[in-house]
Amino acid sequence: MRPLAYLQTGLPALLRDMEALISLESPSRHLPGLAAVADWIETRFSALGPVERTETSNGPLLKARVAGRGRRVLVLCHYDTVHPVGSFPRVWRVEGERAYGPGVYDMKGNIVQLLWALHTLRRLGLAWPELTLLFTPDEEIGSQASRPFIEAEARQSEAVLVLEAPMPNGDLKVARKGVGLYRITARGRPAHQGVEPEKGVNAILELAHQIPRIVALEDAKEGTTLGPNRIQGGTATNVVAAEAWVEVDLRVWTMGEAQRVEQALKALQPVLPGASLQVEGGLNRPPMEPSPASLELFEMARRVGQELGLELGAGRVGGGSDGNFTAALGVPTLDGLGLFGEAAHQPSENVYIPQIPGRTALLCGILEELAR
Ligand SMILES: [Zn+2]
Repeated sequence: MRPLAYLQTGLPALLRDMEALISLESPSRHLPGLAAVADWIETRFSALGPVERTETSNGPLLKARVAGRGRRVLVLCHYDTVHPVGSFPRVWRVEGERAYGPGVYDMKGNIVQLLWALHTLRRLGLAWPELTLLFTPDEEIGSQASRPFIEAEARQSEAVLVLEAPMPNGDLKVARKGVGLYRITARGRPAHQGVEPEKGVNAILELAHQIPRIVALEDAKEGTTLGPNRIQGGTATNVVAAEAWVEVDLRVWTMGEAQRVEQALKALQPVLPGASLQVEGGLNRPPMEPSPASLELFEMARRVGQELGLELGAGRVGGGSDGNFTAALGVPTLDGLGLFGEAAHQPSENVYIPQIPGRTALLCGILEELAR
């Protein structure tokens, strides 16, 4: 029997697992919820191999080893969600051909997909590679606690599979933009706006001069964007503003662009006499640039998909994932291997049930190939 047929038969049981996991709500930083999900994952995956649990400031991080053959492969899953507890009227709901719930698509449902892929390979006597599975609690808030673990494991791996959601049309993800966050602070001099305004240096005015210069660093051809999306300054309307800052979101396809923009930001010069500028911040996630080895991994996945009747393209996306960290280390990385669905980060987040067996069989096929 091939995995697809096995998974079609097993779909009701798979959905029961998904209901159990989704029903444990786990928004980022909600430590009791995260611990309950970690318990569930630990219990279920320990049937496949040893699971090591590390308590981090953002919640438990789980590392499962599953002995196999062939390449050493790292699989990345995060189990935090963006949805505060109680934001769904019913935490799990099947309606028509879709299953709804917090994180069902991004990406707790995909943890069940992974569990079933491995379970299927084992039941059918098929091979999988030497696996390390990481389940992290803080992807949605920047992976600060998990990043060192992800990078350490990636350095020992020959390939990384990321179980984030695919593109809206079902394509896999081979490139993601890098994400930077910068704060530019202007400092001037306070003075009484009524009595001696000429003695002041207005930091808000200084910042107003700088913002068009910052945005002018965008490059449409390179896909580089800068969004000045948060701003604050001043103390009272009758005081010349002594300080003001703006926070800027930077997105880049390449490391070269990240460096160009960062250098330009640091070289900004004040316009008003007596004003000064400070630039803080940096790249949170480096860009995931598709290396030849990553594209080879994608080609293999595309062929596996074809045998299952899936036409898979190589997608590029502006948002980051933990795959950005591993790709930046030069480890071939394939992202977007999760279930087909829609509305990530929205109250209508769901997965499309008829494609669950196919997407899980795709993962089985990729793992079989990596065991050769
Ligand atoms: Zn995600």
